[in-house]
Amino acid sequence: MSQALSTDVLIVGGGIAGLWLNARLRQQGFATVLVENATLGGGQSVRSQGIIHGGAKYALHGALTGASEAIADMPPRWREAIDGQGELDLRGARLLSEAHYLWSPGSLAGNLTSFFASKAVRGRVDQVKGEQLPPALQHPKFKGKVYRLAELVLDVPSLIARLAELAGDSLLSGQEIAPLHDNGELAGLCVDGREIRAQRVVLSAGQGNAELLASLGLAQPAQQLRPLHMVLVKGPSLKPLYAHCLGGGPKPRITVTSHPAADGQWVWYLGGDIAEADGVARDEAAQIAAAQKELGNLLPWVDLSSAQWATLRVDRAEPAQSGLVRPDNAFLAEQGTLLVGWPTKLALAPDFSDRVLAALQRDGIRPASHPSLPELPRPPLARPVWDELLP
Ligand code: FAD
Repeated sequence: MSQALSTDVLIVGGGIAGLWLNARLRQQGFATVLVENATLGGGQSVRSQGIIHGGAKYALHGALTGASEAIADMPPRWREAIDGQGELDLRGARLLSEAHYLWSPGSLAGNLTSFFASKAVRGRVDQVKGEQLPPALQHPKFKGKVYRLAELVLDVPSLIARLAELAGDSLLSGQEIAPLHDNGELAGLCVDGREIRAQRVVLSAGQGNAELLASLGLAQPAQQLRPLHMVLVKGPSLKPLYAHCLGGGPKPRITVTSHPAADGQWVWYLGGDIAEADGVARDEAAQIAAAQKELGNLLPWVDLSSAQWATLRVDRAEPAQSGLVRPDNAFLAEQGTLLVGWPTKLALAPDFSDRVLAALQRDGIRPASHPSLPELPRPPLARPVWDELLP
């Protein structure tokens, strides 16, 4: 059996939530071990579009929602971290775009009026024209209105790589996880036969939380999965575009982000309404055909004749909500020494960490002294999804 370990906080799951939390705890002097059973970031995180929402999208209904308010602080917090002046030093994570754009292709005046009247948006949206337009929209045939939102877009693989650096020697590749109890209380976990004792155990394993909870004999908190069917397109003529294209409804008709492939070409990653219910029901060929039609209608000047196409099915994992509505904040539940949660958005990873840190502080959990860690098998970084699907 491997050498037993002790630490202050044992984290399970190396996506954005676990890695961000791990870095913050280490910065505050806590000893940590983070267990990952596959690749770092390889769950939802590297499949995300990397948009650091400030809530503007959620104000599209005109009504101010909890979501709009809760995440309004996130773009400045991330901005400071990327500049090396925030709660974490994320210099090295690549910023893909200083802004995300809102693009109204037709006459959606009614929709936009209520949108701009909402508090979440006021003062944070400017209309752009001409050379200020995103490169992909700078074309004589372009019609419509474009607004610049104060939301960043990040290259998630480089973000995960930077957080893995900040993790130092705390990362552990491990498969078999079983509870370790002392007097009926969870005292740590047994990972591949190695005992790891900790003051607190945090499950931040995304979709994996449900199974981990079941292995601890717990049914709560319940998890919901929201399936998506995303589309990727890579081509030599693509220029960067980061935009929500508005349709008539509260959700963007299509959300486009652009990602640098290893061969230097851009990959457009398409989400929004096209990736939801109807898109989930389509098979891969029909989903690609739907995306080709959408792009042909919206951006007829973009030459996609030599483009490569792929689709990606992926589930968003969240705490169960009635009617599958989108949760508003990062979510954390506690049960004795166990904490479990979902950030619900990449952008809300700082909020998830705040909640864990607040729980530790409330319970008087402080860094204790532990023997230094031996060299542990380290989980690899996930490959960018665009390079995996469109090599
Ligand atoms: P994950 O990234 O899923 O990480 C969980 C980790 O736990 C994985 O590495 C997994 O391998 C590991 N794991 C699982 N089970 C175990 C186990 N038993 N033992 C050890 N490890 C385990 N949010 C935004 O803010 N902006 C966006 O633009 C955005 N776009 C998105 C687009 C898509 C297509 C999707 C699917 C999501 C998007 N999101 C976005 C949401 C965002 O990606 C997620 O909320 C966030 O990445 C969740 O992070 P996480 O760390 O909780 O989970």
